Amino acid sequence: MVTAFRSRLKVEGEAVTLLEGNTPLIDCPRLAAWACPGGTLLVKYEGLNPTGSFKDRGMTAAITQAAHDGSRTVICASTGNTAASAAAYAARAGLRCVVLIPEGKVAMGKLAGSIAYGAQVVQIDGSFDDGLRLVREISDKAPITLVNSVNPARVEGQKTAAFEVNDALGQAPDWLCLPVGNAGNISAYWLGFVQDALERGFGTPQLLGGQAAGSAPIVLGHVVEEPETLATAIRIGNPARWFQAKEALADSDGQLWRVSDTEIMEAYGQLSRLEGVFCEPSSAAGVAALRKSVLNGEVEPEGKTFVAVLTGHGLKDPDAAIAGQTDSIAVLAPTYDAIMGVIE
Ligand SMILES: *Cc1c(COP(=O)(O)O)cnc(C)c1O
Repeated sequence: MVTAFRSRLKVEGEAVTLLEGNTPLIDCPRLAAWACPGGTLLVKYEGLNPTGSFKDRGMTAAITQAAHDGSRTVICASTGNTAASAAAYAARAGLRCVVLIPEGKVAMGKLAGSIAYGAQVVQIDGSFDDGLRLVREISDKAPITLVNSVNPARVEGQKTAAFEVNDALGQAPDWLCLPVGNAGNISAYWLGFVQDALERGFGTPQLLGGQAAGSAPIVLGHVVEEPETLATAIRIGNPARWFQAKEALADSDGQLWRVSDTEIMEAYGQLSRLEGVFCEPSSAAGVAALRKSVLNGEVEPEGKTFVAVLTGHGLKDPDAAIAGQTDSIAVLAPTYDAIMGVIE
């Protein structure tokens, strides 16, 4: 937990930390010209957290509280990043960690993390939503602590990102754009902004969320039984914090967009090619939603400040980057002429 914010979070115990948070807010003028012309666009690069995603902000808090409460084992369902984060912080605290992941739907960098940090990885022949139902039941019946974002400490820790955005800008942005999966993050940001408005007098932004078209239960208003998207971190058909997300969107006069995988991958490509900021596909859903809202005339970007949250690092999902490379990479003779032949 960011030490400066500790007293403002409802979490007990000696901090189990890997010095998460304090991520950069990067001004992206070339991306702004593409997504929100006339506006200022900054990205909160959450992929620079210790395990490569924003999940570390909530996990430091959840594991701190679990250790304080005397828990020995923690469990979560995950599309990958929660698992890697839980595994790391559990290792740090000397707790046992069990993670349930949907078979075949977890990006390589995330699985690698969970294994490296020594978690017990259980694959299920089911979706994230099935996994969440199971870990809820297990933690109800057995002395095992649930560390998904239904755990209130998770949301406490994740609020710190809103505080950091306000600190960096000296005020709240006009809009905060982010992907929405299980809806823990959008709920946490909103709580953080509201708390900062009360305690430090900052304003609150309007929230702009992006859900993947094949996995957009909140936009559609019904559970999606078989969610599908290559943005696997937001492949969730029945979000745990659905109600809070709806409230946050309403209270902030926000918007929630359904963006196709093509739109997500376009934003993903633009982030790395225009700005040198590499995020995982899901992370680009907030930027894709911003562009879509502007193109549709629902957001007027002129003179406005937008912060887009890039939730996870691009190296989490190397396959996604490589799949976008249509031509195979040529192998040439190691000579000046051969190399210059393809450069010119
Ligand atoms: C978890 C996650 C999300 C979705 O966040 P929710 O709190 O589930 O809405 C988005 N992007 C990445 C990279 C994630 O790991």
